[in-house]
Amino acid sequence: MGKVVIDEEFCKGCTLCINACPQHLLRTAKRVGKTSYHPAELVDPEGKCTGCGLCALVCPDAAIQVYREKKAGVKEK
Ligand code: SF4
Ligand code: SF4
Repeated sequence: MGKVVIDEEFCKGCTLCINACPQHLLRTAKRVGKTSYHPAELVDPEGKCTGCGLCALVCPDAAIQVYREKKAGVKEK
């Protein structure tokens, strides 16, 4: 499961991340962000984000950070 953080100071609302998400979890927010654009926002009430990182990969403004949660009971080597 992943956690996505979108930095609205950098998001220009280009929608590239929205189109890239295989789970269709991103959308354009109705509100206007700090940059005067409508920022992307994550809508994931069922926790479907896999943390794949595609949204961050395609963002031209490096506005997205993706964190992946470790599964309980899995030890790191
Ligand atoms: S990390 Fe992957 S599944 Fe999660 S919002 Fe980004 S593109 Fe979608
Ligand atoms: S790709 Fe980046 S700049 Fe474009 S909407 Fe998504 S977060 Fe905003």
